[in-house]
Amino acid sequence: MRVLERLVLAAEKPLKEAIWDCRMCGQCILHSTGLSCPMRCPKNLRNGPCGGVRADGNCEVYADKRCVWVEAWEGSRRLPIFKDHILHLQKPVDWQLQGTSSWINLVSGRDQVAPKGWETHAER
Ligand code: SF4
Repeated sequence: MRVLERLVLAAEKPLKEAIWDCRMCGQCILHSTGLSCPMRCPKNLRNGPCGGVRADGNCEVYADKRCVWVEAWEGSRRLPIFKDHILHLQKPVDWQLQGTSSWINLVSGRDQVAPKGWETHAER
């Protein structure tokens, strides 16, 4: 791992884990999910909730936890900007980026690379 990436990760990882319970997917979409990390969803869904959200807004898998997508919707309504980015279609997760710096991937554009046949929101 390059020195720069090590330094950025040393700042990014503890900061984002503490604030957003970040799972270091390397392709951050917090601004599109009301600052609720979608990788906390046990099904890793990045385009909204599954069909199992409980009537009280809790998760189908972890009944004692709030669905991250219920939190995402509520959080998106409170955002002063990016409010409607929750409506953007997200590309599939690129697991090759797991553990890498989403900040570096954002600057380099690596997080925008989509599988063949997909187009990112930015390309539309
Ligand atoms: S979307 Fe990815 S980078 Fe962003 S907080 Fe969640 S796990 Fe971390």
